[in-house]
Amino acid sequence: MLNLLDLGKDGMIKLVTSAGEPAYRADQLFQWTYQKAAGSIDEMTNISKVFRKRLASRVSITYPKILERHVSSDGTEKLALGLRDGIAIECVMIPEDTHWTICVSSQAGCSMGCRFCHTATMGFLRNLEVNEIISQVLIPLREFPARKIRNIVFMGMGEPLLNYDNVVKAINILTDPLGPGISRRRITVSTCGIVTRIPQLWGDTRVGLAISLNAATDEKRNLIMPVNAKYPLARLKDSLMHFPLPRRSRITLEYVLLGGVNDSMDDASKLAKLVKGLRVKVNLIPFNPWPGAPYRAPEDRSIVAFREYLLSRHIATMLRTTRGDDILAACGQLAGGWMNGKTKAC
Ligand code: SAH
Repeated sequence: MLNLLDLGKDGMIKLVTSAGEPAYRADQLFQWTYQKAAGSIDEMTNISKVFRKRLASRVSITYPKILERHVSSDGTEKLALGLRDGIAIECVMIPEDTHWTICVSSQAGCSMGCRFCHTATMGFLRNLEVNEIISQVLIPLREFPARKIRNIVFMGMGEPLLNYDNVVKAINILTDPLGPGISRRRITVSTCGIVTRIPQLWGDTRVGLAISLNAATDEKRNLIMPVNAKYPLARLKDSLMHFPLPRRSRITLEYVLLGGVNDSMDDASKLAKLVKGLRVKVNLIPFNPWPGAPYRAPEDRSIVAFREYLLSRHIATMLRTTRGDDILAACGQLAGGWMNGKTKAC
C-alpha cells in the first residue's frame, strides 16, 4: 500500500487522475496530508465519501512512531522515531525566542566516518524515505500545534547529499504553500563536502548550503574526515566558488573546534587563507563530547582567540551555542543511545 506522505505533488496528481478524478483533487489531498497533517483519509471531509473509500483501498497515511521524547534543561527536545523496519532515528527541536528550529536526519546512521561524530559510530543503516524525512517536521506540527516552526536544518543523522533525490523531494513538499509552507530561505542543507552534488543543489531547491569544513589543510582534514581523501579541499573550494549564490547570501562553513587538534592560531590563520575569495560565514562549534569520544572540547580561551582572529581578518564568524547536550541532542551527538539503554526517557 502506498503511503500518501511519500507522494508529493506529482505522485498525488498521478493518483487522482488515474482514479478518473479531476486534477484539483490532488491539491486537496496535498493540503490535507502535508498542511493539516491529517492522520487518516477519513479526516478529509471536503473529499466525497465515495472517493475517500476508493483512496483508502490504495493508500494510507503512515507515520513513524514516537518511541521516546527527551527534554533538555535548556528546552531543546529530542524525539526518537521508530520506522516500520524497526530502525530508530532522531530529530531535534530547538526553541528560539519566538519560533522553533528543527534539526532533521536524512539517513539512518552515516557512512562518512567522521572521527569526531557520534552518529558515525553507528555505521550506515539506510537512506530515509521521503515520508520519514518530512515526518520529522509533520510530527512536531501535529503534536505541538502552538509551536511556530520556522527553520529546518539538515544537520541530524546522515549525509543529506547522499540521499539527494529524497531530500530534494522532501524540501519541495515542506516549502509548498499548500504544505507546511516553510520558507526556502529558512532551510539549510549541511554536507561534509559531496562535491558532485553541490552544484545542483541550488537549482533544485533554492535553500541555504552549509559545509562541515572542520580543518583548513588536507593533511589535517584527512585525519578527521575520511571523505576528504575522495573530495579534497581544492575540489571543495572550487565547487563553492562556482555555487550560484544569490546576492547578499553566504555559504556557512561549520568548523568543529577539537581541543588541541584544530583550534590553534596556526589553524585559524590557515582557515583565513583558505576562505579567501569565498562568500562565507564561519560557524564555530565547540566539540560536544559523547561516550568514548577520542577528542576533548576546546578551552574557552582558544575558542575566543580563534574567533577573534577570524574577525580580525574580516571573516563573519559566529559561535554556535551548545543546545541539548545533557540529552545527547547537540551537534554530532545523535546516535540512538536508547537502543542500548544509554539514554532514558523524560
Ligand atoms: N553529514 C552532514 C550533516 C550532519 S551536520 C554534514 O557533515 O554536514 C552535523 C554537524 O555537526 C556537522 O557540521 C559536524 O561537523 C558537526 N559535528 C559532528 N560531531 C560533532 C561533535 N561531536 N561536536 C560538535 N559538532 C559536531
